[in-house]
Amino acid sequence: MTQTSAYSNELRADTATIMIPLIAIVTAMATLLWALAFESFALSWHLWLGVVLAIAAGVIGRYYLKQGQQALGTVIFTAVHLLIFFLIILKNWSPGSMVPYLFAILIIASSMFTQPDYGFITWGVSSILTALGISQHINESMSLAQNIAGPVVVNLFVAAAAYFSALEWQVAVESVSQLHIKAQHRRDELFTIQEELHLTNAKLMNVNEALEKARQTAVAERDLRTRFMNQVSHELRTPINTIVNFAHILSQGELGQVTERQIDYLTRIEKSGWHSMSVLNDLLDLAQMNAGEFKLKRQRVDLEAVCEEAMTSVRSLLENDDVDLIRDYPEVWPQVLVDPKRFQQALLNLLSNAAKYTDKGFITLRVRTHQHTATFAVEDTGIGIPEEHYETVFQEFRQLDETIARRRIGTGLGLPISRHLIERHGGTLTLHSTVGQGSTFTITLPLADNEETEEKISPKLVNVQTIAPEESI
Ligand code: ADP
Repeated sequence: MTQTSAYSNELRADTATIMIPLIAIVTAMATLLWALAFESFALSWHLWLGVVLAIAAGVIGRYYLKQGQQALGTVIFTAVHLLIFFLIILKNWSPGSMVPYLFAILIIASSMFTQPDYGFITWGVSSILTALGISQHINESMSLAQNIAGPVVVNLFVAAAAYFSALEWQVAVESVSQLHIKAQHRRDELFTIQEELHLTNAKLMNVNEALEKARQTAVAERDLRTRFMNQVSHELRTPINTIVNFAHILSQGELGQVTERQIDYLTRIEKSGWHSMSVLNDLLDLAQMNAGEFKLKRQRVDLEAVCEEAMTSVRSLLENDDVDLIRDYPEVWPQVLVDPKRFQQALLNLLSNAAKYTDKGFITLRVRTHQHTATFAVEDTGIGIPEEHYETVFQEFRQLDETIARRRIGTGLGLPISRHLIERHGGTLTLHSTVGQGSTFTITLPLADNEETEEKISPKLVNVQTIAPEESI
């Protein structure tokens, strides 16, 4: 049995459970009142029997319905009522009596309470009983046919109507049941989804808590690292500065005469000191970059002055005269917003790299203005960089040919820091190179809008001084 027909059976049983006792009570009351109208029991015994039978049929029918035996309950109830009505017809029929039409109630009841076609069976039995009952009152067969024709035909129509409406009712109930089942499924699915959501929520909360803890740990670690770096920088700077300065003073002969050899050693001490200082500065920059604490003060600056400072600084780095420094400047300098110290740091890094990796030829600083951008290209005729390493050189601590790099002293931090600096200015740092022929590093920066003013500092042009390493942090 499908779930939907189970629903319609259930509904039938519910209807029958209410209707069967009700019909039984009505029959019992009607036969009782009728029986009381008769003067003697001999004439009305069948009606008294009707009272008893109607009550019994109601009780027994309801009992079986409650037991779940719907068909049996309905059949007993119908059979007993057929008997009662038959007895009444048998004893009290007279032409024009409406009693045979009462079978219609049983026809409707049986088709509604069991199966739609049970109404026809009841109709068949009721027609036979009508004919039997009426035949006791008339003799001629012709007149019998005339008298039973009316109730038989009317009851047949009732049976047909009951059949169709029971059928319609069944279809309606079944489609409603189907919808109900679907709704139940949906509800079950929703419950499952809701439970899953609760679970996912709980998991998310756990992950969130773990993330928050991790974040707090990371923040604490970052603070610790920054404090450590600041402390170390302070602790190292002072002695390095002292070493460098004293070595310089000694080498100048200000405190007494020094030999050639001593000057050589003192110069080496001074150089190494400056180098250590620049490595220290790079490491500090890197720490600040990673901690997200890098702050820029962008403003309109005298770019020519910035470039000139860098070019002058790089001149001293060139070991021989085989390398020419070429300035390819525009007539009108572009207007860009930069943090002068940081921009010069990036430019100087590119120029000093060019100086490190170029033995002969030239190093050019080319400045150009385009529609929306300004470019600063540092071109050299040095050893060059293979194309597959264009990105590698911008990674932290990466040096291409370590033997060359070591000979030329470096940390592998200059380019990543420079790129970070330029990107923080809203620009890009790109590379084009041919091995054995040279490299070109190009800084591209957006032009400042006419209305755009200095971000933070003074409205007048700033003339940048050479950046001594200890100032650059
Ligand atoms: P380093 O301190 O070693 O110079 P950088 O980050 O500045 O570190 O450069 C990374 C590497 O990129 C260098 O070790 C070198 O191999 C390569 N490089 C950088 N600039 C040049 C250049 N102009 N010509 C050839 N190679 C270069």
